[in-house]
Amino acid sequence: MEVIPNHTQTVAGWAAMNESGKIEPFIFKRRETGVDDVVIKVQYCGMCHTDLHFIHNDWGITMYPVVPGHEITGVVSKVGTNVSGFKVGDRVGVGCIYASCLDCEHCRRSEENYCDKVTLTYNGIFWDGSVTYGGYSNMIVAHKRFVVRIPNNLPLDAAVPLLCAGITVYSPMKQHGMLQSGGSLGVVGLGGLGHVAVKFGKAFGLKVTVISTSPAKEKEARERLKADDFIVSSNQKQMLAKTRSLDYIIDTVSAKHSLGPILELLKVNGKLVLVAAPDQPVELPSFPLIFGKRTVSGSMTGGMKETQEMMDLCGEHNITCDIELVSTDRINDALARLARNDVRYRFVLNIGGNSKL
Ligand SMILES: [Zn+2]
Ligand SMILES: [Zn+2]
Repeated sequence: MEVIPNHTQTVAGWAAMNESGKIEPFIFKRRETGVDDVVIKVQYCGMCHTDLHFIHNDWGITMYPVVPGHEITGVVSKVGTNVSGFKVGDRVGVGCIYASCLDCEHCRRSEENYCDKVTLTYNGIFWDGSVTYGGYSNMIVAHKRFVVRIPNNLPLDAAVPLLCAGITVYSPMKQHGMLQSGGSLGVVGLGGLGHVAVKFGKAFGLKVTVISTSPAKEKEARERLKADDFIVSSNQKQMLAKTRSLDYIIDTVSAKHSLGPILELLKVNGKLVLVAAPDQPVELPSFPLIFGKRTVSGSMTGGMKETQEMMDLCGEHNITCDIELVSTDRINDALARLARNDVRYRFVLNIGGNSKL
């Protein structure tokens, strides 16, 4: 492993060393605390489906050893001399974006997520040439711009998936006007992303319909998540009965599927947003698009300003995620279950957690 001169702070973490995907303890170095840096003692780290793709090199871009984790919460343990917005003891988080150029049109609009030079929190290349290591570790050093404040009323464990799953659905909801009450929202797929979309929709005053392949999820959707309606997507009669009934759809399904039947659920001029990333093209028939003047768009995470705004809104509405806490000696078991989608709805690694904070 390449040694970078100012990387002097020793960190205990967990990494996949090769394509076997097995996670093991891994000691590494992070950079010295720079003037604009915030040092965070990591307490919790969410386990996102993306972690699995990197661990197993599914996209052919993994740089081993990879320390996954881009839903990170903890407590500030040190700040650089040029940091005024954070102090030791503050409750903070880091999400998917670790750095960007700070200077392009996207960065100036706080759309760092669309910066050409965006650096992801792990398996990215930082300004100093080092490979970024994520939150499966007990400490992280981050530039102040990419640190998010966690409202005091939100627990650091159940809030952690908001940093990826939360902002991923919030950003398109804001862009397409779903923060105003009164509209109707369909959420396709009830997993990590889907369950947050349902909670946001209800908090913003939308009528929320869950669309799922699994009839077994109806009770959960209606009773616990307070969804207003539920459609089994393989039930043609149910799908037909809801034709042209929705203003918006957020599609969170990462398996290959056809958008045709889902688009028929949208009213004329309705909007569908894809937020998951099927590795094969989705089917997009032209008829439901043309005959309903419908729009299909995509969205990838969110900018830093928007992430803070989402987090503050979650504080106001008391929105957190439904999680299963995992101890660090069970990472591999949790990843195996995650690969089977056997989680309700997010695994969160307890790295140094203190629920009293
Ligand atoms: Zn993620
Ligand atoms: Zn930029």
